[in-house]
Amino acid sequence: RQADAPFRMAIVGSGPAGFYTAQRILSRLPGSRVDMYESLPVPFGLVRFGVAPDHPEVKNCQLRFEEIASSRNFTFIGNTSVAEAGQHDGSCSVGLSSMLRHYDAVLLAYGASRDRLLGIPGEDTLSGIYSARQLVGWYNGLPNCADLMPDLSKGDEAVIIGQGNVALDVARILLENVDRLRHTDMPEQALETLSRSRVRRAAFTIKEVRELMKIPAVAFHPAERSLIPDNLQSLPRAPRRLMEVIVKGTPVSPSTALKSWSLDFCLSPSRFLPRENSPDNVGTTVLERTELSSKFDPDAQTRRTDSEVAIPSSLVFRSIGYKSEPLPGFDELGVLFDGQRGVVMSDGCGRVLRSSPGQPQSIPELFPGLYCAGWVKRGPTGVIASTMQDAFDTADSLIQDWLSGRAFLPRSESSPLSGWDGLSKELPGGKSNVVDWAAWKKIDQAEKERGRLKGKQREKFTRTSEMLQTVSRGH
Ligand code: FAD
Repeated sequence: RQADAPFRMAIVGSGPAGFYTAQRILSRLPGSRVDMYESLPVPFGLVRFGVAPDHPEVKNCQLRFEEIASSRNFTFIGNTSVAEAGQHDGSCSVGLSSMLRHYDAVLLAYGASRDRLLGIPGEDTLSGIYSARQLVGWYNGLPNCADLMPDLSKGDEAVIIGQGNVALDVARILLENVDRLRHTDMPEQALETLSRSRVRRAAFTIKEVRELMKIPAVAFHPAERSLIPDNLQSLPRAPRRLMEVIVKGTPVSPSTALKSWSLDFCLSPSRFLPRENSPDNVGTTVLERTELSSKFDPDAQTRRTDSEVAIPSSLVFRSIGYKSEPLPGFDELGVLFDGQRGVVMSDGCGRVLRSSPGQPQSIPELFPGLYCAGWVKRGPTGVIASTMQDAFDTADSLIQDWLSGRAFLPRSESSPLSGWDGLSKELPGGKSNVVDWAAWKKIDQAEKERGRLKGKQREKFTRTSEMLQTVSRGH
């Protein structure tokens, strides 16, 4: 590798972790070159495919990402997965080991694209049980969820299992008046299905509830009072405010409102039962009651009890977390992946760990030049702001290593680093099928134009084939 060539880096994934790392590297290592690989033809990860359509202000970070992408030292390589090398179904693939040969450093920022499972009877045999991740992908136009077509007209009781912002988003979208979503970038087919939804009652376990309390004409069933301290003033500020919101409830009552929701705590799902007269469909969720080892104690443990509760459920949404997967090539390269937590193993500061070559059981060591950031590093928790901080932390580790000459593969005079230009020459189809930034802007323009005709922000393409046709037509 040439000693005086600019610092070259590849980023795998174009979500917030990838973009914020790119920002830091480009600003702190002048002259450096960043190539960003994205498996989809469109950038921004969960900002486009996760953040709820009725939260457009959250997506404003895209404007910052656009600025980063406008740097002449930045290259977007869309429709290109880091996977088994080769071409697959109109998209490109590059292998991680090939990539490592062409760069000083590679950042893994490929997020979490799998679901955690409950592992209880009925989960994978009954219809009507969906993963919240897939539902979110479907109502946000994610191509591999385009065919989900959830049947929301099966009944009126939806159970959402899990706690977190995703569960909250799903409940809000299910209960919201669909006309209030029509001006958002939610795809037409999702609006159409939601308009036929019969869901009238959603139950789930969740902490952040304010927004749901504010949906007009949707009522909240009062929460189990024994789980709320009598004296709210004794609580720290954040839980106190949340409890106040829960105790206050909604202005409309469940007995008069058409739609309602509840918060059900201390319940752990144990099995799903089929519906009477329709044995292939879920009809009931059976949950075990749990109890807390000590009341109002943040460190309390939950204990099982002998009692169970059965909740009628024509639809179930499992919202217990996203999970990352190891990339093909990890085993061969010795990259350590924690399958239990679903994260790439690192030193905590973004430096990826590997087993010593030839000694898989030995103490892990740093993998020179390989870094990670975002959900693939920390697990699927945290908002965009925390992902940004995490990306900056990883970038700072990398910069420190680079400037101190530590932990990088030695550069050789005989094989100069050539980044994407060199790597693309090794691909069977070269750069054909790759969506660069200019091509993404064509897709972007076409979506905005389609949206304008319908009076909404954008009408997304929900199929990669449509995206690629738009590029080849030159819009
Ligand atoms: P991602 O955003 O998932 O980006 C990873 C990217 O890598 C994706 O584009 C993916 O296509 C790509 N990729 C995957 N595999 C490969 C591969 N093999 N090769 C190439 N590319 C690959 N945060 C907020 O601040 N406000 C909100 O309202 C909010 N709402 C959310 C709602 C939902 C449903 C979810 C799931 C998250 C929400 N978040 C929200 C959190 C926020 O989206 C995350 O913190 C953030 O997107 C994580 O960034 P990331 O870059 O690690 O992963």
